[in-house]
Amino acid sequence: MSTYVVIGAGISGLSAAYWLKTSGASTIVLESTDRIGGTMASEQHAGFLFEHGPNSFLNNQTTTWAMVEGCGAHHDVVSASTAAKKRLIHHRAQLTQVPTSPPAFLKSPLLSRNGLLEMLAEPFRVQERPDGEETLAAFLDRRIGSEARQTLVDALVGGIYAGDTTSLSAEATFPSLVEAEHQYGSIVVGMVAKMLQMQRAKHLSRDMCSFRDGMQQFPRYLADFLGKDSIYTHTKSVTLHKSSQNRYVVSAIIDGVHREIDCKGVVIATPAHRAAALLAPLGPTSATDALMAIPYAPVQLVGLGYANRYFAENPPSGFGFLVSRQSSLPILGCLYSSSVFPNRAPENHTMLTVFLGGARDPNTTALSDDELVDRATAAVCETLHINGPGAARFIKRWERGIPQFTLGHRARVNAIRQTQQIHPRLQIVGNYLDGVSMHDCIAGAKAAADRLTAEAP
Ligand SMILES: Cc1cc2nc3c(=O)[nH]c(=O)nc-3n(C[C@H](O)[C@H](O)[C@H](O)COP(=O)(O)OP(=O)(O)OC[C@H]3O[C@@H](n4cnc5c(N)ncnc54)[C@H](O)[C@@H]3O)c2cc1C
Repeated sequence: MSTYVVIGAGISGLSAAYWLKTSGASTIVLESTDRIGGTMASEQHAGFLFEHGPNSFLNNQTTTWAMVEGCGAHHDVVSASTAAKKRLIHHRAQLTQVPTSPPAFLKSPLLSRNGLLEMLAEPFRVQERPDGEETLAAFLDRRIGSEARQTLVDALVGGIYAGDTTSLSAEATFPSLVEAEHQYGSIVVGMVAKMLQMQRAKHLSRDMCSFRDGMQQFPRYLADFLGKDSIYTHTKSVTLHKSSQNRYVVSAIIDGVHREIDCKGVVIATPAHRAAALLAPLGPTSATDALMAIPYAPVQLVGLGYANRYFAENPPSGFGFLVSRQSSLPILGCLYSSSVFPNRAPENHTMLTVFLGGARDPNTTALSDDELVDRATAAVCETLHINGPGAARFIKRWERGIPQFTLGHRARVNAIRQTQQIHPRLQIVGNYLDGVSMHDCIAGAKAAADRLTAEAP
């Protein structure tokens, strides 16, 4: 008989099942779609590889690496090329390299003299912190000035969160920056102090990494580790209720048959609105409202493959470019996928992944597939001087792409956590709680598995 049930087979759910299994507990994972991995999916066609969701992770977290090694996926880890260290920003109609050191900032054309001086004065700026929660834009305008925020950070936040700094909460999105100001009076001083204190795990490469056949290989390794009999896809009508003080019954249609699974703990690892629906039968909880209130930004990805001979200059080399708020390009950014990792395009070809939409441009959801491709193609042809037809095209649309940690997010997360105090054997995990990255999902899942196994039998 299974001891725990995990609902949702994205990286959060698979990680929870992984950590439960490594602590000796038997687990069943129920997934509503026909495939595991959730947002983590890779599509291959004619020698091109297109990522539907995450494309990489930084190998700097011991928990993630322990899981990668533990399931055997490390055999297929690939590191990013040296070229990928070069990152660009599309600003005022041209691509400019993002400066990574103070001398490079001084030489960079990205900021005006005033904008640069305002940013460099950050460590010396003594300020009263306003009462209440600040948006990321308000916080950064106060600390580094609005020009640096709009030019550099808005592009970065568009790339990572598909988000808008004017609605995201500084405290929820970049807690370490807010803490740095609180502790050191400066985000620059605070970040430098943190870097000096940081114990670097020597066995981690700190490389930007992916997997040979794309990120999807990771959930596949995890599924092999968990065993075929532990994961059920195509699961329908999943509901849960409490059967006694310490037990739950999860009902679902599995392989077309209605089943009831009696278990001593449940991990809900679905997107927030689905988690709210699963919690509803347990009675009114503050968590249900909080889960429903978490907004998501839509994101569309267009993959474009080109023969290298169609680039008027050399094929692009580097990580890719993000688009600043002052740019008129109607995209969030473009990843030079085949310049970053091997095996993303056939020989003498280039694979590009264009990101569109996000919180700043939600209207792209209304565009047809052809319109999205046209928009992405026009943006890359103009920027990278491409003068020939594409060799491949891919499209992926995420209606609920990335959760947005807007003002009030911390209070919403606290409300969700309160439910867990009432139901300690019911754990809620996912990218909408503490962070959207794969690392955040894995760390959250491990903490949930540890809490469950620490509960009395
Ligand atoms: C375009 C994009 C690019 C990204 N790039 C990166 C990156 O480069 N690096 C990085 O670290 N992160 C990146 N992220 C973020 C990261 O990929 C996600 O935050 C993470 O994969 C989310 O995992 P999850 O398991 O929490 O949720 P999901 O992946 O959404 O998984 C939830 C699962 O639950 C299932 N489910 C839903 N309802 C039910 C139900 N009722 N019953 C059973 N199952 C159900 C779903 O089908 C799904 O499989 C990116 C995200 C996006 C969208």
